[in-house]
Order: sequence, then structure tokens, then C-alpha cells
Amino acid sequence: MEFRAANAEAHPDYFNAPVPSFGAGDARLLIVGLAPGLKGANRTGRPFTGDWAGDLLYATLLKHGLARGTYSERADDGLVLADCAITNAVRCVPPENKPTSAEIKTCRKFLASQISSMPRLHAILALGKIAHDSVCDALGVKKSAHPFKHGGSYPFEHLTLISSYHCSRYNTNTGVLTEAMFDAVVKRARLAAD
Ligand code: URA
Repeated sequence: MEFRAANAEAHPDYFNAPVPSFGAGDARLLIVGLAPGLKGANRTGRPFTGDWAGDLLYATLLKHGLARGTYSERADDGLVLADCAITNAVRCVPPENKPTSAEIKTCRKFLASQISSMPRLHAILALGKIAHDSVCDALGVKKSAHPFKHGGSYPFEHLTLISSYHCSRYNTNTGVLTEAMFDAVVKRARLAAD
């Protein structure tokens, strides 16, 4: 809260509020990220928009027909998601980009209600272990029985959970996640959502 107030004072032109989900409620695929970046989603008010991770995410969604238009790092770029929605495990920008377990727990009710409000939801793509674990908790399934694994896929009754390393600058710069790996996992999630 203090961090948010300080940001609002330092950057009054930023969105500086809980970042809402992007995309239609009747989408079949939900992508779950970690949290807004300070100068990215926290500035623009749209998940991954203006964040380095968004460059790879939106380029990959456009390539697979999960988005239409042009991504220009701003919420009013006219980009539309196609049968896909994007949300974050944590809705407000966390200090040092590292959400605490209390923040993750507090925001889980928003994640759970996002998931349950989507009547056609068929697949969730979780980006990173924190998103994966929070989705498991939101779905009420045991994390120990469904450990995070890049490319891992867990079919549940109504939907399939697919997980990927987060498309962060750190992961792509260190080679933990390559563009080809991310491309393959997004393709898999799109097929699972069909
Ligand atoms: N921006 C977001 O909105 N979420 C992430 O997980 C990373 C960057």
C-alpha cells in the first residue's frame, strides 16, 4: 500500500491501481502472469503492456492467432485478444517485482473469481511457478500432486492447466526460456483450449 502511494506520488500519470484482466469473459484460454511491472502494466493499466515480457508474449499471441492488430506498448493500441484473456496472479505492482506470499494470497480471490466467471474456459496457461501454484490453489487442487514444470500439462475436469517458464527478460536472457520453447507452449495451450 505504501509502495503504491509512493508510486502514485512519483508517477501521477501512471495507472497505479490494480490492473484488470484483459480480454473477453467468454474466451476459452486464460493466460496467468505474475504481477504488473512498475513501468509496464502499472503504467499502462493493461497486463504485460509496456513490460519487456509483453514484447514476447504479444508477438507470440499474434503469431498464433490469439490476438489481432498491432501491439504498441500502450493500452489504446487497438490490439484485441481472440478467444484468449490475460490476467495476473497479483494485481498491483509489488515492491522489487517480488510479490510476498500475503499479496499472492490476497489476490487469489480475484484469480479464482476470474476463472469461475469464464463459462467457456477450456485451458489455462500459467507463466512461472508463482502463477502455476496460485492457479492450483484457486482451482482447489493439490500443488504437491501437480508440481510446476515447463511444458507440463494437467487435465482437470473442465479445463487443462499448462505451465511455462515466465517470459521475463531474465529467463529469456539466460536461455532458461527460448523463443522456440515459448512458441511451442503457447501453441500447445491454444490446442488445449480448442
Ligand atoms: N507484466 C505483467 O502484467 N505480468 C507479468 O507477469 C509480467 C509483466
